[in-house]
Amino acid sequence: MHVAVLGTGIMGAGMTRSLLRAGHDVRVWNRTAARAQPLADDGATVAGTPAGAVEGAEVVLVMLWDTPAVLDVLGSAAGAAPDAVWLQGSTIGADGMREVAAARPDLRLVDAPVLGTKGPAEQGTLVALLSGAPADVAAAQPAIDGYSARSVYAGERLGAASALKLACNAWVATMNAAVGQSIALAEGLGLDPALFLEATRGGASDTPYLHMKAELIAKGEFPPSFTLAGAFKDVELIRAAARAVSVADDVLAGLVAAYGRAVAAGHGEQDMAAVYRAFPPG
Ligand code: NAP
Repeated sequence: MHVAVLGTGIMGAGMTRSLLRAGHDVRVWNRTAARAQPLADDGATVAGTPAGAVEGAEVVLVMLWDTPAVLDVLGSAAGAAPDAVWLQGSTIGADGMREVAAARPDLRLVDAPVLGTKGPAEQGTLVALLSGAPADVAAAQPAIDGYSARSVYAGERLGAASALKLACNAWVATMNAAVGQSIALAEGLGLDPALFLEATRGGASDTPYLHMKAELIAKGEFPPSFTLAGAFKDVELIRAAARAVSVADDVLAGLVAAYGRAVAAGHGEQDMAAVYRAFPPG
């Protein structure tokens, strides 16, 4: 298929490479051109404008930071591909998705956030969360299959897939903060944190995620798969969504405080595992 990718950050770049490997013809655009340029070596065509990227595309994947960025870029690109299916993959929450849908009733929009981070994006093994008109989802499925291992369809309502993404990210953000908290706690109580990993190993509470994030903390190096700034953005979105439907937000309030403290301490561009820095022992 002819696919356009708007936004080649950590996720958009990986998804582009997966789409190319799957045999699609991919044109990309990124606000900071230097971040899109290396994708030319992988076979993508790099466009100078969003409209230039989407011209002639059957499917457009939008992988930007937040709702204002999505609205802004759609505003300048939409007219150039009126018949395309637009996969809105950025994490913008159900409210953000509804805002985008209200602003662009002219587009065949599919709510299409993803689960998984840099590695799965590069490998094409993300989980695609989808909602929207079944015909539009079906038309875009070959492209979706290029970057994902499986799809979960949440119904026709735009915003349903983004709501599901919030529930999933609440889980991930909680686990990630809990890893930092338990390691800091072990250290603060005078223990080697390796004992915590050894004690939980193989039990019901053990998870590959714990080991992945504990390894970064042990090395003291946090190359970003998903940035702390992104996790902070998401826990704020999740808390607002919980409050709007009167779901108790005690745990989420703690997450907002911890992620916010680590971002304020200057770790925003590091991997979200650096939330550990919000729990300094001693
Ligand atoms: P990223 O590397 O920071 O990329 C963000 C992208 O948004 C870049 O292309 C950036 O352009 C663009 N952007 C930001 N503000 C913009 C604006 N006002 N106008 C135009 N472009 C703008 O982040 P990412 O990790 O790829 O995340 C992208 C989205 O996917 C986010 O919504 C994130 O929450 C979500 N997500 C991330 C992960 C993950 O693990 N990383 C997983 C699932 C979902 P520049 O390069 O010019 O700054």
